[in-house]
Amino acid sequence: QAKSEGRNTFQYFNTELTQKALDRLSLEAQLRSALLNSELIPFFQPQIDAANGTIIGFEALARWQHPEQGMIPPARFIPLAEATGLIHQLDLEIIRQAMAQFAGWYRQGLNPGILSVNLTVRHFQQLEFVDTLLELIKETGFRTEWLEIEVTESQLMTKPEAAIQVLQQIHQTGIRIALDDFGTGYSSLSYLKRLPVTKLKIDQSFVRDLPHDEEDISITCAVIALAKSLGLEIIAEGAETREQVEFLLDQGCHQIQGYFYSRPLPAGEIERFMLDYEGIAQGA
Ligand code: C2E
Ligand code: MG
Ligand code: MG
Ligand code: MG
Repeated sequence: QAKSEGRNTFQYFNTELTQKALDRLSLEAQLRSALLNSELIPFFQPQIDAANGTIIGFEALARWQHPEQGMIPPARFIPLAEATGLIHQLDLEIIRQAMAQFAGWYRQGLNPGILSVNLTVRHFQQLEFVDTLLELIKETGFRTEWLEIEVTESQLMTKPEAAIQVLQQIHQTGIRIALDDFGTGYSSLSYLKRLPVTKLKIDQSFVRDLPHDEEDISITCAVIALAKSLGLEIIAEGAETREQVEFLLDQGCHQIQGYFYSRPLPAGEIERFMLDYEGIAQGA
């Protein structure tokens, strides 16, 4: 009896594994064709200066508009894209669309501010990456001073030496560099000083339970103090309530990105957001 149970367990396990592998293969094939069919598009989430209510800029966040499954969030395809190397193509595709969109808004006389884009640290292993980026900027009518790239702290700190040279080249062109999800990695403070980083983004896991969780309060205040003493800008991610925004403002963190202001929106809704929002800020 034990033997047959064992076999069943094995079969079940085996089938499940096979199914997972098949799902992954099919998702990978679909992601490849999605890139060719422009199913991957950027949404935009505003970053606000809470001290004076102005728009600092927008972060471009990838979305997959799947023809049958609807909108697929990045958590379901970015890890796969990273594992398969498709991330190079994916990131550049999102950046190209986001820059073209932004350049269009500027041409219309709107002021969307700075465009933040997410890049996997793998790009910095290619020395020609800066040239690719500059070509894209030229091609889309964009400008280096409008661009900020976000790299996660954990990815960067895994192999900082390899990235420093390329990051420095990027920095020299006038492009800003932000450390994303800050506080979740293990930054060596000596690297932080050497890296050409201009901004720290406090991870949303520390913001979620503000201003009630004592540990999160300590970490948030420490990160704000660190940024100040290193002369870096600081932005908090994931603020959902007025209480959180007020707490962050009181601690000296003015730049805020979170559902309190807006969820990430499709490009078609940004123009109205900018017009409505400027109206609100002026009325306040
Ligand atoms: P991230 O760069 O840290 O982006 C912030 C994430 O927090 C976004 O999730 C955003 O929708 C979410 N968020 C913002 N404010 C709030 C809030 O108030 N409450 C809550 N609960 N969430 C909030 P999203 O769009 O699902 O993206 C997840 C991650 O996927 C990003 O984290 C980034 O690491 C990655 N990602 C997204 N687009 C790209 C891309 O084009 N390239 C690469 N390499 N990674 C990307
Ligand atoms: Mg980001
Ligand atoms: Mg983040
Ligand atoms: Mg993240």
